[in-house]
Amino acid sequence: MSVLLDVQNVTKRFGGVVANERVSLTVRQGEIAGLIGPNGSGKTTLFGSVSGAHAVDGSDILFKGHSIRHLRSAPIARRGLLRTYQQTRIYDDMTCTENMAISAREAQGSLLSLLRPVPPATNAHAGDLLGFVGLYEKRGDKAGSLSFGQQKLLEFAMALMNEPKLLLLDEPTAGINPTLITGLIDRLRRANTELGVTLLVIEHNMRVIMNRAHRITCLAHGRVLAEGAPEEVREDKRVLDAYLGVA
Ligand code: ADP
Ligand code: MG
Repeated sequence: MSVLLDVQNVTKRFGGVVANERVSLTVRQGEIAGLIGPNGSGKTTLFGSVSGAHAVDGSDILFKGHSIRHLRSAPIARRGLLRTYQQTRIYDDMTCTENMAISAREAQGSLLSLLRPVPPATNAHAGDLLGFVGLYEKRGDKAGSLSFGQQKLLEFAMALMNEPKLLLLDEPTAGINPTLITGLIDRLRRANTELGVTLLVIEHNMRVIMNRAHRITCLAHGRVLAEGAPEEVREDKRVLDAYLGVA
């Protein structure tokens, strides 16, 4: 499998806090990669570094073999690398379909286009993807009226609107009840196998990600602590210690 994302020795400081220290990580084309680690270990910061939210120190970040280190979020998104956020970012007073259309336009970086009506092709694409996540019946409802779990599904569908090659998902299952988690994970898997989207998923709950990811990277205190197949990482004493707060 070819390497899609290649993070090389990236360091990110916030004032005196070293949130990521010489982090290297690769994501291969077609896989579901997991990123785990205790709270505050630097997972979300790494997503910000990769997706162009902030400048970083270190050697480089390559996407499809090209450096994206000095690019901002919009051009990175146009190349096919998108992220979602730990806190859902949807417009409560707009319908699901309108949120989908806005997501597509934001990634294109044109705020003026927000003022234009939704074109029929966009509307149809939004309907297909809302169907994919099981929200077709809700397409005309205000996003604010959805349950939290449904909002997470909407956010996932919004990201898919832009046909990402690589999607970074920040704790997609956080706050969702266990019955909906299974449905969400199933959609992630289908996006991977049916739509060909490579995924890098942050998951705090080890049990949720272990059976689903092809490879796992574990961060602790901003550094890569362990990397490998799920069964290796799960057995790694350093990983267990980090989760128990010993490391
Ligand atoms: P995680 O997602 O693994 O819980 P984060 O990447 O959010 O961890 O945070 C890593 C560290 O960086 C923490 O110590 C956090 O307090 C700090 N940090 C994250 N974002 C900022 C910021 N914008 N300003 C200052 N410190 C930050
Ligand atoms: Mg986080």
